[in-house]
Amino acid sequence: MVGSVAILAARADDATAAQADKKPKSEETVAPGITFDWIHVDGPYIAMTFDDGPSAKLTPKLLDLLAAHHIKATFFLIGENAAEYPDIVAREAREGHEIANHSWSHPNFGKMSDDGVRGQLRKTDDAIKSAMGKSPTLMRPPYGSITPRQKRWINQEFGYKVVLWDVDPLDWRRPGPSVVCNRIVKNTRAGSIILAHDIHPGTIDAMPCVFKELEAKGFKFVTVSELIAMETPLPPKPSPTPKVSPSPKPSPSPKAKPARSTSPSPAAQN
Ligand SMILES: [Zn+2]
Repeated sequence: MVGSVAILAARADDATAAQADKKPKSEETVAPGITFDWIHVDGPYIAMTFDDGPSAKLTPKLLDLLAAHHIKATFFLIGENAAEYPDIVAREAREGHEIANHSWSHPNFGKMSDDGVRGQLRKTDDAIKSAMGKSPTLMRPPYGSITPRQKRWINQEFGYKVVLWDVDPLDWRRPGPSVVCNRIVKNTRAGSIILAHDIHPGTIDAMPCVFKELEAKGFKFVTVSELIAMETPLPPKPSPTPKVSPSPKPSPSPKAKPARSTSPSPAAQN
């Protein structure tokens, strides 16, 4: 894709982390089947993700809210926090949420040695395993910063899929609950992976609005692994000169592009 080439060229004088943060999609084609930022699915399914916890004060509040809405989320944990609050990790798992690896101390993987990255992931995997009895299967690099080569060896060595996101409310800047809610509701589509952080009070305060509004739009919340399991192939791009036999239908409506809207519309072709 053109995007990948542009990003690779830009990396010469730009911070890798900033690029990766802004354009998580650009490297998707480099490691197909390993990296996910949005999933093509047939129904109105989305995944809510929370990074950087657990927080002793905020995560239990969030878990109460999720339980009240019967929503399953995915938590990308910092190993240091998981080791400090194993009881919260155990509760997350017990209540049906997915637990995933977000490094031990939140460094920039894109600038680290393989051994440094390996240690960050291993220690966190161990902390999660001791808290909930099994290893996670997903990881998210801090800042979304990771090289295509790192993705491949991490996937081979740990079996992790690399999960980025397509909806980012920039809640870490603490813009206030209503702004966080509006940004998420406005940008979420079927198959979205929504980024948020359960270490900011305003993010937790935004969630009643987020859950209510997304539910009102018909979205269904699943974990990231469930969303990945629902992936369906993207429909082929429509040919410029479709050979269609004359149809008796009087409808003048133009051929719609494959729908990516929240309401799953029956595709005309295929
Ligand atoms: Zn993070």
